[in-house]
Amino acid sequence: MAILLFILGAIFGSFYLVIGTRLPKGENAICSRSHCDHCKKNLKWYELIPILSFIIQRGKCNYCKKKISLDHLIVELVTASLFLAGYLYYGLQIKLFIYLIIISIAIIIFISDFKYMVILDSPLIIGIILIIILRYLENGLYGIIYSLLCGIILFFFMFIIKVLGDKIYGRESLGGGDIKLAFLIGLTLGYPRIGIRISLIAIIFSAFLALPYAISTIYLVKKNELPYGPFLISSMIIVFVFLEKFSNLLVFFE
Ligand SMILES: [Zn+2]
Repeated sequence: MAILLFILGAIFGSFYLVIGTRLPKGENAICSRSHCDHCKKNLKWYELIPILSFIIQRGKCNYCKKKISLDHLIVELVTASLFLAGYLYYGLQIKLFIYLIIISIAIIIFISDFKYMVILDSPLIIGIILIIILRYLENGLYGIIYSLLCGIILFFFMFIIKVLGDKIYGRESLGGGDIKLAFLIGLTLGYPRIGIRISLIAIIFSAFLALPYAISTIYLVKKNELPYGPFLISSMIIVFVFLEKFSNLLVFFE
């Protein structure tokens, strides 16, 4: 099972890289064949095996011998390792599947938001639908209504922050994608009784995660526009995985 999860992670990771890099440019991610970025030659099946093809070909295209972007290997290895870690941590239970979905959304957001400052709608929507189904299986109708409510409250909370931020800075402070992501956070962490507070903790924690990156980009690179999605979703995953530890912080919200 563990090996299977690792292999699945590598395959999905390779697919997520295609989605995260092609969809923001308006290219078709699913139907177009995979090709070399340099010579555009279509690749054969044995040149598309995640992780292995890269290693066997020593990171070079078989036809034009130019270097294949290291992104392929990194994304495939990271996704595979995170899938494996999830299985070792949860075993086969519903929480594992929720974890796999949020990891998948996170990988795509990391690619598209850091590369193009875009959070794609389609992976978010598919993820949200799957999580609603899983939450229903986990907690029944009451659980899912509570989760949805948390999602809606978080959505409006983030929306208000955006409106205020836009007014204060006189330009776009948060992107639309970040607000939609807040809905996903409320939905995923929307456990009965603690849902809203634990989701707010995730949002506050995301600011701490983003701080070192924000400071270094603003002062070193002199850029004042940065992606927030990766930090929001990383924060959510950390709070989701270490829920009990973060629940201890709830006392501050009593
Ligand atoms: Zn080539």
